[in-house]
Amino acid sequence: MPPSTVGFEPQEIESVSRTHTIVIGAGIIGVSCAYYLAKRGHRVTLIDKGEIGSGASFGPAGIIAVGHPPMPRPGLVRQTLRWMFDGSSPLYVPPRLDLDLWRWLWKFSRACTPKHEAYCMEFLGKLGAQAGACFETIVSEADIPCDYRPCGWLEVFRSEEGQRRGEHDAQLLRRYNFDVDVLSGDEVRDREPMLKPGVVGALHYVQSAIADPHQFLVKLAEQAQRHGARLLVNTELRRIVLSNGRFVGVCTRDADQIDADTIVLAAGPWTTKLAASIGLDIPMQPGKGYHRNITRPDPCLSTACVLAEGYIAVTPMSGFLRLSGTVEFSGMNHRLVTRRLNMLSNAANVFLEGIDQSQTISEWCGLRPCTADGLPVVGWAPNLQGVFIATGHARMGFTLGPVTGKLVAESILDGTPSIDLTPLRVDRFAPRRRRRTLARA
Ligand SMILES: Cc1cc2nc3c(=O)[nH]c(=O)nc-3n(C[C@H](O)[C@H](O)[C@H](O)COP(=O)(O)OP(=O)(O)OC[C@H]3O[C@@H](n4cnc5c(N)ncnc54)[C@H](O)[C@@H]3O)c2cc1C
Repeated sequence: MPPSTVGFEPQEIESVSRTHTIVIGAGIIGVSCAYYLAKRGHRVTLIDKGEIGSGASFGPAGIIAVGHPPMPRPGLVRQTLRWMFDGSSPLYVPPRLDLDLWRWLWKFSRACTPKHEAYCMEFLGKLGAQAGACFETIVSEADIPCDYRPCGWLEVFRSEEGQRRGEHDAQLLRRYNFDVDVLSGDEVRDREPMLKPGVVGALHYVQSAIADPHQFLVKLAEQAQRHGARLLVNTELRRIVLSNGRFVGVCTRDADQIDADTIVLAAGPWTTKLAASIGLDIPMQPGKGYHRNITRPDPCLSTACVLAEGYIAVTPMSGFLRLSGTVEFSGMNHRLVTRRLNMLSNAANVFLEGIDQSQTISEWCGLRPCTADGLPVVGWAPNLQGVFIATGHARMGFTLGPVTGKLVAESILDGTPSIDLTPLRVDRFAPRRRRRTLARA
């Protein structure tokens, strides 16, 4: 579903010189924006209604999966129809009357085509190489202890058919110069003795890495502060103040107006509502995912494994093993559903030794900001001066956070980012008629 460009010019580049940027949301996207802006000497205020990383960025699987494909996939529609109302399936949509959800699902289904996948991969492939490089640079330059390991990750299969399906992704990534090694069941068990005998093979995504996502985030926020960023936590944005179509400041719950000339909305799935308050349409659905941290079995994994037929990721972190996954479109809520948490342990138990002897340490859920076309939204808002959007990273936010922050800083400070962000533009959601009007305005 590549957005039509008929009668529609690429987003205008704002060329005003900017003195103060307010970033809303201290998740991986907002913190990365603040870091790159502050590092370049720009004045930044980072605001979050909770603590740093109180949204989805608190508990990802920690896989820096460079070049990975988007959420809408060819063939997913048939599978989703079988799964959607089943509370024990990997992708669950509790039945309810919600027009926005159904509109979103319709658009999502239309994006599940090989053509759209190729369109997204053209962009994500390019972004992937830079995404990995950003992590390398930050971790080495900024002294960020977060258990960063450039060891790749493994997709592990229990069936020949599963492995054949996995090969599709591997070929897709190889086309964009990412290395993917094929391992037999014995080879992958030699590397990871925790895998059970039923495993028939694996794919090793070589250029990827793993890290503790929360440690990375907190340390990156500290670095942003060290470079001069002002951090306001437990401070909720109440109102975005515009004057003659130009952003001039924000009102928070606790403070009078804070003046600035630029705002970056990086508030995850909450961005939809905040953007709507200034007339912007950014339709997203919160895709709830869960994690359960358990005590480390012995032997434990040495790298992250995605258990293909179990639809979960298992990541070794210091002091625990993290089981994570599932997508649930049940609206904006953080209800922890035990049945869905148990799915994580059950799936892990099928693939891995020692899971049944491990104890649960903690449980969590978070809301991925999901667009229907599977691409993030990164760009200037149309027809408003000084409003920048950076969200919609769905399952790729940890991976793409730093590179997004770098590109946002380039857009704001240089006018032109080093990668053309046209596929991520904000006005792609406007109805075609409105897009033509926006282009003429
Ligand atoms: C189970 C799970 C596993 C995942 N695993 C991976 C993985 O291995 N690799 C990967 O790349 N990605 C992964 N992801 C995806 C990744 O976690 C998300 O894409 C990413 O965290 C989104 O970051 P964000 O900054 O956009 O949003 P968030 O982290 O949700 O941050 C948004 C912030 O905005 C704040 N906010 C909202 N409204 C306001 C307001 N009015 N005023 C002030 N602040 C406000 C919130 O408090 C929040 O802190 C996973 C996600 C889940 C759920």
